[in-house]
Amino acid sequence: MSEPRGTPGAAQILVIEDEPQMLRFLRPTLIAHGYRVVTAGTGAEGLRQAASRSPDVILLDLGLPDLDGLEVTRRLRTTSRVPIVVISARGREGDKVEALELGADDYLTKPFGVRELVARIRVALRHAAAQARPGGDPVVSVRGLVVDLDRRRVTVDGTEVRLTPIQYRLLATLAAHVGRVLTHRFLLQEVWGRNYSTQAHYVRVYMAQLRQRIERDPANPAYLVTEPGVGYRLLDE
Ligand code: CA
Repeated sequence: MSEPRGTPGAAQILVIEDEPQMLRFLRPTLIAHGYRVVTAGTGAEGLRQAASRSPDVILLDLGLPDLDGLEVTRRLRTTSRVPIVVISARGREGDKVEALELGADDYLTKPFGVRELVARIRVALRHAAAQARPGGDPVVSVRGLVVDLDRRRVTVDGTEVRLTPIQYRLLATLAAHVGRVLTHRFLLQEVWGRNYSTQAHYVRVYMAQLRQRIERDPANPAYLVTEPGVGYRLLDE
């Protein structure tokens, strides 16, 4: 087992990935952004490293030579709440949704750029820190959009926006997880309740209403972006 490379004291990232080409990209990029990096080339090795190193974030390829990445996610979640960002191939939306429902936090679709990689890791680290703080952050502020979760107040560029209770709950759920993708099923359960988890059209209808209220150009949303086949994300940067 090699020692992690990168800045001592920095957040440690465990990369579970078997493709040498991806590792040649990921390792130096993450180190250049100040992270410490440990790698594992198989699911079994990844699970061992996760247990012994307690990484701050795990980047997990879904296509591994031994265990399926979904199985690795399932096993990690029996013992740990470490943020998991899965790396999946293009067009495998079903796998992404399943990984998220098994407890993964987010995903990157190959090929992805440095900006997207670093943004996902920052969001995962920030979310883990917020979860560790009781109550979390009550005011979410994103480029002119402010959602005050204590006062249930929403403003865009300083102007208060009136929302129905369902519209507000949908926005508040996305704001509480700002930067992270949320699946249709998760949104339905959080906003409408457990019995509604298959009514995906509810989310579409209310998302369209919400965009009318808060987006400057509802046809080209800057805040509430669609993740095709998966769900929605409140973009944080
Ligand atoms: Ca692979």
